[in-house]
Amino acid sequence: MKKEYPLKDLNTMGFDIVAKYFYEVNSLSDIDTLIEKEEFKDVRKLILGGGSNILFANEYYDGMIIHSNLKGINIIEENGDDVVVRCMSGEVWKDFVDFTVSRNLYGLENLVDIPGSVGASPVQNIGAYGCEVKDSIVYVYTIDLTNGQRRVFKNEDCHFAYRDSIFKREEFKKYFICAIDFRLKKNAALKLEYGNVKEYLERKKIESPTLSEVAQTIKEIRAEKLPEVGIVGSVGSFFQNPIVENKVFEKLKESYPEMPSYPNEKGVKIPAGWLIDKAGWKAYKENHVGVWDKQALVLVHYGGGKPQEILDLMKKIQDSVKEKFGIIIRPEVNIEF
Ligand SMILES: Cc1cc2nc3c(=O)[nH]c(=O)nc-3n(C[C@H](O)[C@H](O)[C@H](O)COP(=O)(O)OP(=O)(O)OC[C@H]3O[C@@H](n4cnc5c(N)ncnc54)[C@H](O)[C@@H]3O)c2cc1C
Repeated sequence: MKKEYPLKDLNTMGFDIVAKYFYEVNSLSDIDTLIEKEEFKDVRKLILGGGSNILFANEYYDGMIIHSNLKGINIIEENGDDVVVRCMSGEVWKDFVDFTVSRNLYGLENLVDIPGSVGASPVQNIGAYGCEVKDSIVYVYTIDLTNGQRRVFKNEDCHFAYRDSIFKREEFKKYFICAIDFRLKKNAALKLEYGNVKEYLERKKIESPTLSEVAQTIKEIRAEKLPEVGIVGSVGSFFQNPIVENKVFEKLKESYPEMPSYPNEKGVKIPAGWLIDKAGWKAYKENHVGVWDKQALVLVHYGGGKPQEILDLMKKIQDSVKEKFGIIIRPEVNIEF
């Protein structure tokens, strides 16, 4: 257990945050030990992976950070075309996807280069380029931090939805994710429809791409579009894409015929980045923070700033999008007050 621990390298926003206590989990028994500790009782707790989806609202976290450093990737089952891979929560997500692609296992290739840990991947059901991690998860292995009991969540127990799962609910935040089983395929169709993947492949004159060519292309697209972790502070997409009722969308379309839209079972999803861009925020800069010039969905910290600056900018953008389009955009990032 460490005290007064700096979290500058454990929040990709890059703010100077200090936590009262910091506990690293290197084995499952470390959790049992932790639960018995005096400091553990009656203290506020936060499970932290790589901090790439967390915004600390204050510079001092008056509580305990519990961080997974559980390591290991193992193929545990092979059945025809199916391969089940167990990955421990402290593995880096990017490295895990590279592992699967290098073994020609299909399923996670569109999720390459998403920052953060494997343990966090089910929490917001990470997604990119038309894929979501929920489609590959079989089991999530957890420990209940209130009593040390082990609990396994089947895929359907996780209530996965767009950037959401049961683990985001307050009463489920007590579950420390230890490991995840992923079902991957030795052969599967590649998903190239989303975004500009096809266009990039055409530009590279690749007609029938392989798994690793798709992964490499998505890496390149991401690198062009998103700020580099460790260089410019960000949490990737800061806001969720709002879903509006069909009749609301029809009305908006009259004023904005070019508005992009993705109908789904709940209504029509509108890219928040487009709304923010149209409200005039792209490339906006104010003191130490701003809006990324290549993707308006990304709020950035250029260094030397305070979390409050991002919170103020968030509010201004939300108000302006609400005023222009009548749409409320909500943060995708977890804000830890
Ligand atoms: C440049 C950039 C690009 C990004 N692109 C994408 C993208 O394309 N798609 C996407 O979905 N996300 C994206 N993100 C967001 C982020 O990378 C993901 O949400 C990622 O899964 C967060 O992982 P983390 O380990 O950093 O989690 P953290 O930020 O540390 O934590 C996120 C949440 O998970 C919980 N958590 C973490 N570990 C555990 C555990 N072991 N057990 C239980 N709960 C846990 C935390 O308590 C918190 O609620 C991006 C972020 C950045 C900075």
